[in-house]
Amino acid sequence: MTQNPRLTASLVSRWGDDPWALGSWSLIGRGGSPADRVALGVPVGDRLRIAGEATHPSRAGMTHGAYEQGVGAATWAAEAGHRRVAVVGAGMAGLGAARTLTGYGVRTEVWEARGRIGGRAYGVDLDGFTFDLGANWLQQYDGNALARIAEELSLPVIATDFGDPLVLGSPSAGAPGGLERELRARLERASPQDAIADVVEQWLRDPAPFTADEILRLVDAEIVVDSGAPLSWLSARHGFEPGVGEGDRWIVGSYRLLADHLAERLDVRLERPVRSVRIGEHEVTLVADGFEEAFDAVIVTVPLPVLKQGRIEFEPPLPPPHRTALERLGAGRVEKVVLRFDHRFWPVHPAGYYRVHGPEATCVSEWLDATEADGVPTIVGLFAGPWLDRIWSGSDDDVAARAAEIFQRARACPADQRSQIRAAMSSTDDR
Ligand SMILES: Cc1cc2nc3c(=O)[nH]c(=O)nc-3n(C[C@H](O)[C@H](O)[C@H](O)COP(=O)(O)OP(=O)(O)OC[C@H]3O[C@@H](n4cnc5c(N)ncnc54)[C@H](O)[C@@H]3O)c2cc1C
Repeated sequence: MTQNPRLTASLVSRWGDDPWALGSWSLIGRGGSPADRVALGVPVGDRLRIAGEATHPSRAGMTHGAYEQGVGAATWAAEAGHRRVAVVGAGMAGLGAARTLTGYGVRTEVWEARGRIGGRAYGVDLDGFTFDLGANWLQQYDGNALARIAEELSLPVIATDFGDPLVLGSPSAGAPGGLERELRARLERASPQDAIADVVEQWLRDPAPFTADEILRLVDAEIVVDSGAPLSWLSARHGFEPGVGEGDRWIVGSYRLLADHLAERLDVRLERPVRSVRIGEHEVTLVADGFEEAFDAVIVTVPLPVLKQGRIEFEPPLPPPHRTALERLGAGRVEKVVLRFDHRFWPVHPAGYYRVHGPEATCVSEWLDATEADGVPTIVGLFAGPWLDRIWSGSDDDVAARAAEIFQRARACPADQRSQIRAAMSSTDDR
């Protein structure tokens, strides 16, 4: 008889509630486009520039996009002749900016709100191993600047083939041929004002040769989990941005190894939450709790929702194009759970990647098997979508127990409750 698996340890992320993140990564809402990302990153006069993942037109929502934007903003500040520059935020963008500035010989301080560096690239210890609760993969590996640094450091990485998931809890193993191509074609043909929900609703009225179930399952797997935003808000044309499946490797030992390396010899001031940025004629002043200091220029790399919600006051206010960009962009919520068990009860799949449908429709989660790297039966789950609030309530132990149950019961998923998806998609819960 097979022994019942026992959950022995767990970790749970809380990006949605985290005041220094307020979401997982930036997305383009209906009416928006990558031009809004560019607009947000345009220098404000010659003393302020916003960088960070949200400003990258083609590599947004990824660590290397963030890093590139930090490096670009730093080059702008150095070439403008600034000699003393502040960087707000010590994530990949901020660390990239500060390292580059330091390389130019510019005196640089990083002001970081949290008591740690890394931002949304965040490794947490669990019984002797470190797991990423934020960014996991070095994506677009061949063209990834951080991957080159990881190689220089000889960090061990493991490839994940997202094109070859082991699908659990679903009557079919994957999408029928041509379905994803058709989805992409329909999204491309949509009007700039359309949301993804508009396109899918229209398609479901005449789904042949596919079935409504097949379409909805693909939307769940490809868009809901990769965005975590309401489909009624997400831009049809630009809500499905590139990234996943273009060469993905994860760092054994976590992104912390990279962040620590990037931060070496930098002047990082932790627990300095910037409340206001005052731009004067000859300097720019940062105000944090109990601190106030003037610099030649400032590079702000805080997450998009922090800016969008006005958590930092700009004096004078940001110009209209920047504010319009903030209105059109938003962020979704994707959360992670790391589960350790006393034995590996799930089927071993060479790609190490699992897609779980269930227990109900609209419920899809992605899982990464970390057992080989960790040496202990460990699975890392990624959750998003309308059911997240139900799972992510109560204590971390409650969340972990619910997630573990979902994974364990995946094979018994009834896949006939698709009507709930339409209800969820027409939600007006805009971000
Ligand atoms: C669950 C999850 C999974 C992900 N998976 C991947 C993945 O596999 N691959 C990938 O490439 N990307 C992934 N990402 C996205 C990736 O983590 C981000 O795109 C990237 O880390 C963003 O870097 P950043 O420097 O722009 O922002 P952040 O890393 O958020 O850094 C901004 C910093 O600003 C600080 N800050 C905020 N407000 C203030 C303030 N007022 N004053 C001072 N400091 C402040 C924050 O504390 C933070 O340290 C994932 C993200 C999440 C949440």
